Amino acid sequence: MARFTDKVAIVTGSSNGIGRATAVLLASEGAKVTITGRDSERLEGTRQAILKAGVEESHLISVVADITSAHGQDLLISSTLEKFGKIDILINNAGVNIPDANGKTRTEGGIDTFLKMFQLNLQSVVEMTQKVRPHLAKTRGEIVNVSSIAAGPAAQPQGPYYSSAKAALDQYSRSAAIDLISEGIRINVVQPGFVETGFSTVARGLNAEESASFYNSMGAQPHCIPAGFCAKPEHIASVIAFLADRKASEYIVGQTITADGGSTLVLGFHAHFAQKAPKN
Ligand code: NDP
Repeated sequence: MARFTDKVAIVTGSSNGIGRATAVLLASEGAKVTITGRDSERLEGTRQAILKAGVEESHLISVVADITSAHGQDLLISSTLEKFGKIDILINNAGVNIPDANGKTRTEGGIDTFLKMFQLNLQSVVEMTQKVRPHLAKTRGEIVNVSSIAAGPAAQPQGPYYSSAKAALDQYSRSAAIDLISEGIRINVVQPGFVETGFSTVARGLNAEESASFYNSMGAQPHCIPAGFCAKPEHIASVIAFLADRKASEYIVGQTITADGGSTLVLGFHAHFAQKAPKN
């Protein structure tokens, strides 16, 4: 029997990147999955990827929704319950480093940008946790939150609002994990490092070619990524699935797993030592 057989999972931000890879993995390992995002075309891309993996159509629903709106959150939950009757797993993955509408950067970014950043990367997770809680209490379910190595402790002067929202998400997750474990609900966090997704297109305003070149150049510098390559979404999806799998990770509660190819363990001054990149 596949490890997620009879489980029902909601994966937010699954119209692209890490969320898409996670939805494909959970579904191909037996879960019934609700996929969601605002962009219906990209969401259809995820649906097709899941079907291509051999998953039955009846194990899947697509819900176009903005996760920052109460309506979107409610629709996601009610559609899942209506179709599958319960919720076992919530992956709070939707997140973006939202560019400033007036082109301001770093600590000059507007307060509007600051608020939007917290609304998406933190508030929507808090709201989804509150709303899904009674359903997860019934199934003794799991929540996995997707944070970032930007959460610290290293400073992130180029993205202070995004990184602060992710740092707040980490501390919220630890606190909520201890609050909810008494109801049998487990919460854990994955902190990805550099991952080849649409993230850099949105956050850094790069086109597809520039984005690929950015990720390749990061991977080629061992003082940025000691593993010698930039992660694919699947590298992060497998860690998320581990934390969503009660049998595999039952005794892990309120923890953060960093999956960054070693990035956070190297310091700037290491760049002055001739580290050799591993052969891949
Ligand atoms: P992508 O840009 O590829 O995917 C982001 C996903 O979030 C999309 O499916 C997007 O869907 C969804 N999303 C964004 N805003 C909203 C919204 N308001 N309502 C609903 N869905 C929304 O990026 P990644 O896959 O890289 O990002 C996934 C997570 O990983 C994020 O939390 C990100 O912060 C984190 N992360 C990524 C890293 C990386 O290097 N890629 C590094 C560290 C962390 P749509 O546009 O259709 O609404």
